[in-house]
Amino acid sequence: MKVDVMILGAGPAGLAVGAALSAAGRQSLVVDPADRTGGSIRTVREDGWTVETGPNTLQLEDESDLALLHGYGLGDEILEARSESAKRFILSRGRLHGLRPSPLSILTSGLLSPLGRLRLLAEPFIRRGGHAGETVAAFARRRFGAEAAARLMDPVVSGVHAGDPDRLDMSACFPSVHRLEAEHGSVILGLMRRGKNRRRIVGFRKGMQQLADAMAAVVARTGEIRTGWKAAKLRRDGQGWTARLIRNADGAEEEVRCDKVVITIPPWKWKEGPFDESLLGKLAPWTRCEAPPVTVVARGYDRPAVAHPLDGFGYLTPGEEGRRVLGCLFPSSALPGRAPEGKVLLCCFLGGSRQPAVARRDDAEIKGVVDRELAETLGVSGKPEREWIQRWEQAIPQYDHDQRRREACLDALESEEPSLRFHGAFRGGISLMQAMRGGEALGRRLAGAR
Ligand SMILES: Cc1cc2nc3c(=O)[nH]c(=O)nc-3n(C[C@H](O)[C@H](O)[C@H](O)COP(=O)(O)OP(=O)(O)OC[C@H]3O[C@@H](n4cnc5c(N)ncnc54)[C@H](O)[C@@H]3O)c2cc1C
Repeated sequence: MKVDVMILGAGPAGLAVGAALSAAGRQSLVVDPADRTGGSIRTVREDGWTVETGPNTLQLEDESDLALLHGYGLGDEILEARSESAKRFILSRGRLHGLRPSPLSILTSGLLSPLGRLRLLAEPFIRRGGHAGETVAAFARRRFGAEAAARLMDPVVSGVHAGDPDRLDMSACFPSVHRLEAEHGSVILGLMRRGKNRRRIVGFRKGMQQLADAMAAVVARTGEIRTGWKAAKLRRDGQGWTARLIRNADGAEEEVRCDKVVITIPPWKWKEGPFDESLLGKLAPWTRCEAPPVTVVARGYDRPAVAHPLDGFGYLTPGEEGRRVLGCLFPSSALPGRAPEGKVLLCCFLGGSRQPAVARRDDAEIKGVVDRELAETLGVSGKPEREWIQRWEQAIPQYDHDQRRREACLDALESEEPSLRFHGAFRGGISLMQAMRGGEALGRRLAGAR
C-alpha cells in the first residue's frame, strides 16, 4: 500500500491533520491501536445521559475555530454553553466563591482578603522581571501576590493541567498571559488593552465523540482510518518511509509506504511505538515527559439531592484547601441534553501531579472521597442515581522546566528529517482546540509541500 501521508494516532490531533489533508484532496492513512477514533475523547450516551469522562467542552478563541467545526460539517450540532456557565466557582476556606469573567468580579467575590485585593491591584506597578523557565507559581506570586497566586492561579493549574504550579513552566503553559508582561509591562493592563474576551465554550448535541466522528468522516473522503492496527518498524525508504502494520485482532501484517509520517502518539508510548533505536536516541529528552494519572468520576443525581443551585460551569479547588477533588464540573448546567429531565450531572477530577496516589485508589475509596467532598461543597445528599468512573493512567502532559528543551529536540529532528512531523497535546498546547488547530495547520502545510 502507498499513501501520501501516514498519521499515527487517531486522537483529535491526528484526525485534524488527516481532515486538512482530505480537504486539500490528499490521501492519508490514519493508524491507531485503539478500537475507536477520538483518543482521549470518551462520550457515554445512555438513558438520556450524555457523559464525558474525557474532555467536556471546547474553548473557541475566534471565528476561525468556529469555521473549522463548520468545515467538519458540525454547524447544526454545536451547542453553545449557557451564559450562566460563564460563572466559575473557586473553593476557598471551605466555601464556594463565584467568579464572572471580569476583574471587578475577582475584587468583589470575597475570594481575596482586603490585603490580597490591594496586592492584586498593584500588579500594573510591579516592574518586569522573571527569568527563562520561571514556574507558574513564581510568576503568579511575583505579579499578583501570594494570595491571588494560591487562590486563583493554583486551582486553574491543578484543575486544567492536573499539574503542580511549582513545577510547570509559565511561558510554556500560558504563553499569551506570559507575553502580556513583556509587551505591556503588566498582565492586567495587557488584558484591558486587549479588550473584551470573545472566547466561547461549546459542546455537541451528541457529545464530544460527535466531533471525532465528524473529523473521521472528513478524513475518509480521500483517506483511510485503521483502528485496531499498530505500526511497527518505521524505516527510512528513499525519500519517504516504510512501516509494517500489524492488526491487533489476528496479527495480520501489511506494509505501507508513504512520503511523510506524522506522529501524534503520546510521548509516553513512543518506546512501544514504531521508532528504531537511532530515532529513540534523538527523542531522549521526551522519556522524562511526565503525565500524571487522573480519575474522573461522573455522577447523575436527582435535582433535589443537590442543594447548590449549580449556577455556573463548575468549581476548582486550590491546593491550600487540602481536598482530594481537584475540581467538579456541572455539565448539565453548561449544556442542554446532558441529563434527563429533573436530574443533574456532576463530573469530578481526582489525582494529578500533586496527588497521583489518590487517582490510583480503588473504586470504593474514590467513591467515599467524592461522597464526602460533594456533601461539603455542594450539599449533595444520598447516593448518586448513576455513576461513571474513568481512569486515565497518563492524562495530561506536563509542560515543566524541561518542556522547552523537549520542543527544541523535536524542532531539530524535524529540520533534519522534514518528512517526519510531530504534533499533539505534548507540544504547543494541551487543549483539544489547540490540538485541532495545530493539526489543521500542519495538514495544510503538508498538503502544500509534496
Ligand atoms: C480527563 C481529561 C479531560 C480533558 N478535558 C479537556 C477539556 O474539557 N477541554 C479541552 O480542550 N481539553 C481537554 N483535555 C485534553 C484533550 O483531551 C487533549 O487536548 C486531546 O485529547 C489531545 O489530542 P491528541 O490527539 O494529541 O492526543 P490523544 O487524545 O491522547 O490521542 C492520542 C492517540 O494516539 C493513539 N496511540 C497510542 N499509541 C499509538 C501507537 N503506537 N500508534 C498509533 N497511535 C497510537 C491513542 O490510542 C490515541 O487515540 C482533557 C484530557 C483529559 C485526559
